[in-house]
Amino acid sequence: MDRFYVTTPIYYVNAEPHIGHAYTTIVADVMNRFQKLMGRKTFFLTGTDEHGDKIVQAAEDAGVDPKSYADRISAMFRQTWPQLNVSNDHFIRTTDPEHMKTVQYILQKVHDSGDIYFSTYKGLYCVGCERFYTEKELVEGKCPDHEKEPVEREEANYFFRMSKYQDWLLEHIQSNEGFIRPERYRNEVLSFLKEPLEDLCISRPKERLSWGIPLPFDDRYVTYVWFDALINYVSAIGYPDGPLFHEFWPVAQHTIAKDILKPHGIYWPTMARAAGFPPFQHLNVHGYWRTEGGKMSKSHGTVVRPLDLAPLYGVDAFRYFLLREMVFGLDANFSEEALVQRLNSDLANDLGNLFSRTTGMTDRYFQGKIPPFGSEPDELDRSLETQMEATLDQWRTEMPRLAFHKTLMAVWECINAANKYVDHAAPWNLAKDPGQLPKLQTVLRTLLEINKVVAVLISPFMPDTSEKMLQRLGIEKGALDLRLEEDGKWGTLKAGMPVHKGEPLFPRIQREEPKGGKPPKGAGKPGSSRDAAPKPAPAEKDESISFDLFKQVDLRAGIVKQAEKVPKSDRLLRLIVDIGEERQVVAGIAQTHSPEELVGRQVIVVANLQRAKIMGVESHGMVLAVKDGDTLKLVTTESPVSPGLKVT
Ligand SMILES: [Zn+2]
Repeated sequence: MDRFYVTTPIYYVNAEPHIGHAYTTIVADVMNRFQKLMGRKTFFLTGTDEHGDKIVQAAEDAGVDPKSYADRISAMFRQTWPQLNVSNDHFIRTTDPEHMKTVQYILQKVHDSGDIYFSTYKGLYCVGCERFYTEKELVEGKCPDHEKEPVEREEANYFFRMSKYQDWLLEHIQSNEGFIRPERYRNEVLSFLKEPLEDLCISRPKERLSWGIPLPFDDRYVTYVWFDALINYVSAIGYPDGPLFHEFWPVAQHTIAKDILKPHGIYWPTMARAAGFPPFQHLNVHGYWRTEGGKMSKSHGTVVRPLDLAPLYGVDAFRYFLLREMVFGLDANFSEEALVQRLNSDLANDLGNLFSRTTGMTDRYFQGKIPPFGSEPDELDRSLETQMEATLDQWRTEMPRLAFHKTLMAVWECINAANKYVDHAAPWNLAKDPGQLPKLQTVLRTLLEINKVVAVLISPFMPDTSEKMLQRLGIEKGALDLRLEEDGKWGTLKAGMPVHKGEPLFPRIQREEPKGGKPPKGAGKPGSSRDAAPKPAPAEKDESISFDLFKQVDLRAGIVKQAEKVPKSDRLLRLIVDIGEERQVVAGIAQTHSPEELVGRQVIVVANLQRAKIMGVESHGMVLAVKDGDTLKLVTTESPVSPGLKVT
């Protein structure tokens, strides 16, 4: 199929946008961007649901009329999505005149065919709320707002003959695997359908509720919100005659959270059937983000809203976290700690490091120009290409099945393999021998190619990062204009084109703030450039740190390549340490170690320490040592290991 249509639910305007809305919308956006990348023509719809008694109530509380209230909240949704890089084609509101006309058209059509009838409704009614409650909505048999028992009341209303379509729906779900997915939700709907389906009350008398779309065949009534809301999926694309409807409805996919499974899995397909058009192609159902009342407590007591974290840590990091952390269909926990952890490990350490090593070495060894494949790629070089091809295959099949976390894991396996490849191929050694130039070219070129394909594959998830990476590799294309067939091909970079190193893609987040004021003088470790560095909290209560916090420290094995005294200092040495890449580190060990004895020594380096200048010399990293009385003993490994290996 060369087309793709995806929707979010239209969000009810009785509350501001929260993490649940953001997740559904970003999932739909990722799907939309993926399909575009595959070369399909797409349409992506979101919007707001604005009728019903809850809106009237919220407007009254806010002291405004329902339309002004709906305008205000709807605008909040409309303004939130561009900030999260959501690429929707249209934003529908149920107060749009075109939508209201379509709802009336369908009501009339279903009424004419005899599937809407007038009858009495008997139910539990709260006089205070002026509405009926279902047993389920009551709390200990009482209205949750008024804490009073509702009374039995009869009311004349219109009903949709949903029961008539039960057998058809059952058959349709059973013969269309993936109609409702993942399977757990398909099974949930099938189990609803084991019980006889009741007809659906689809009207409210105007005397009780005027904020709705009037029934075209009886203006004493307005239609019930679900009949109004669900129709947005077709009214937005010009049902019944619009060209977009014919083009996109056959490939429609709805993306929803599990709380609205029943209306989407049962009401909507039967409504479509009664109105004479086929149901959607897929209903994609996801779980909940567990937060505390939509908010998260931080360790020091303040409360943040998940959506506030997007501007704080970057939209791409936020999107990556949501898609990587949640298995589509299951619940997941949202926490700031987990987000920062992903940012520091997956984004800064793995992806950011690979990109900056690759572009940095291209800069150093090839004056910032893309080298050709100088020598025939050997087995090691080719293994990366082969792994990338397998990842591409997996990506093509898993993305349409909504297995976002799996595809990201596969891409990250490639990134990690590429980082290991750097360590094994050791370009810094090849660079020392002019005879190895062709090999050095092939290694860097292989790395540049893998970075390019990675940039294309992450574009649905992290469009800004993708664009930034490609731009620095000399490819000027917006993320939405990328096409896998062309842009994801191995080996298509042009030799001689400039590469720009630029700033780190993802600066690491250092979250622990100093708690005990200024650290005591001389507390800096040997080689530490950071006399003002955060220090552990004073020994008040529990001094232990979490494993996650420890993991944020990137410790690497290194070999000292050069050492010399820092002029005018009797304490400091300037070291060049190979930690998979060459680092200049200033260490305060001159009083116990001579420069000569250090060259060739194995050391352990804190690799992700911020750069600093010490006595005018730049230091990027810190060499670990133990202070024993007046002397310092360097921390080392039990037996020699390759530079760059991680301490775990
Ligand atoms: Zn009540």
